Amino acid sequence: MLRLTELRLPLDHPPEALDAAVAERLGAAPTRYSVFRRGYDARNPRRIMLAYTVDAEVRDETDLLARDPRLRPSPDMTYRFVAEAPEGLADRPVVVGTGPCGLMAALILAQSGFRPIILERGKAVRERTQDTWGLWRRQVLNPESNVQFGEGGAGTFSDGKLWSQIRDPFFFGRKLLKEFVKAGAPEEILFISKPHIGTFRLVQMVERIRSEITALGGEYRFGQRVDDIETDPGTRAIRALHLSTGERLEARHVILAIGHSARDSFAMLHGRGVQMEAKPFSVGVRIEHPQSLINLRRFGPNAGNMLLGAADYRLVHHASNGRGVYSFCMCPGGRVVAAASEAGRLVTNGMSQYQRDERNANAGIVVGINPEDYPGGPLAGIEFQRRWEERAFEAGGRNYRAPAQRVGDFLAGRASTTLGEVAPSYQPGVTPADLAPCLPDFAVAAMREALAAFDRDLPGFAMGDAVMTGVETRTSSPLRIPRGEDCQSLNTPGLYPAGEGAGYAGGIFSAGVDGIRVAEAVALAMTGGGPVR
Ligand code: FAD
Repeated sequence: MLRLTELRLPLDHPPEALDAAVAERLGAAPTRYSVFRRGYDARNPRRIMLAYTVDAEVRDETDLLARDPRLRPSPDMTYRFVAEAPEGLADRPVVVGTGPCGLMAALILAQSGFRPIILERGKAVRERTQDTWGLWRRQVLNPESNVQFGEGGAGTFSDGKLWSQIRDPFFFGRKLLKEFVKAGAPEEILFISKPHIGTFRLVQMVERIRSEITALGGEYRFGQRVDDIETDPGTRAIRALHLSTGERLEARHVILAIGHSARDSFAMLHGRGVQMEAKPFSVGVRIEHPQSLINLRRFGPNAGNMLLGAADYRLVHHASNGRGVYSFCMCPGGRVVAAASEAGRLVTNGMSQYQRDERNANAGIVVGINPEDYPGGPLAGIEFQRRWEERAFEAGGRNYRAPAQRVGDFLAGRASTTLGEVAPSYQPGVTPADLAPCLPDFAVAAMREALAAFDRDLPGFAMGDAVMTGVETRTSSPLRIPRGEDCQSLNTPGLYPAGEGAGYAGGIFSAGVDGIRVAEAVALAMTGGGPVR
């Protein structure tokens, strides 16, 4: 099989044009071929090009490879398990958290016979959905069951974007995408360059993955929060977990995939001496524009083309005060969601359905923050986040309505008293306000400058009536729990910090990939296998 890259064809090309392009690149028609990746290049909106990567089967592969230096063999992306549980193994690994990291870790362990126990502080996904709506529709927050906590983790109510720029030499991402398709994701996620799933399907997929894990001998326990860890006084190796139910669960291999919002768990781990350190993250707001504006600016006369879907954007600006400002987690045709997990604090994020057909485009506009901005040790970033979340709660009216401001007012430095043409999508509603007191001054200054720069890249971006809601503080974990080559905590053997909360991922795809990596490390450690790949 040969991999052909950068086969560029016009957006409206007939299907046979790809056959011809493949044959031309090979110098002869292949026996068969399949599209590995389809992306687009919209730098010129009037002349959008599709870019294909194709795997082609040919009769004389060796000859062709020798003749044409541009050709490469297709990589073998088959997933191979690194270890299998021996018959009758009594020891069971424990996975804490059922976000994409915990889910993929548990799935790999179950598929290789290790019968993991899966602990989740929140509820099963259907019940969790009811609680999440409780905040969105009735302004009632359940601190244990919300957008951040519960089966499926933080990305369940999301856009389900699945692309990432991580290095993935062992094609763990391919395994993840195939498992997602098996669980009900659209087949196209295997080949389009910017795949997404949407909230509705994510809920079903999470349930199907649970069914497979339990059918393979895994055991799910909902509403069981890990409240403490017990370690050997000499070696510090993990011995047991203490659960919110009062149970002491013996455990020697614990994958800790608790996400970036488990603030109480971070405090507990810090109290128990688990090595951790502060790390940079970002804070800002969500911004909304009419999706039609973004489609027009990005795709021009091709706006509305089915192959392109709703347009996205990615914007970056280096502000004169040294801060980086960038768009984050852009959700085309979606809505802004209430993503708080603590009472009296307010957090925004974004989600969309698969069709991405709602009126507004939304994205975080966030500013980079460094540990020097919040001195005070590994947990200081959490206090920093809380401060701004409390200010936003206050500015919104102390009832989980979000403070919202027109971009025109934000740029002019005055509070909004009414909103304009862009109706905010945030539920349970917004309060026109001034967002500047809800963010550090340097962030406000950098964002004002960035909006003007973004408007040059994407004309209309700084339109007066674009609406901002805040605050966006959970962009990534404010701390890292470092681990060694064997994926175990540097000072607590048997504890495998993983995923976004431990600082090893940023998004659904990378969290799932990290789950696979760490599951392999556990499987190898439990069978005395070789080094982690
Ligand atoms: P999480 O998904 O956060 O999962 C952690 C799990 O651990 C949770 O289920 C939690 O309940 C559980 N837990 C925590 N503490 C304990 C404890 N002590 N005991 C037991 N269980 C515990 N990323 C994308 O790539 N694309 C998107 O489109 C996207 N959209 C998003 C939209 C929203 C609204 C949000 C909130 C996030 C979005 N993200 C998106 C980010 C993405 O969801 C995260 O990067 C990803 O979920 C991290 O995975 P994780 O498994 O590491 O942690």
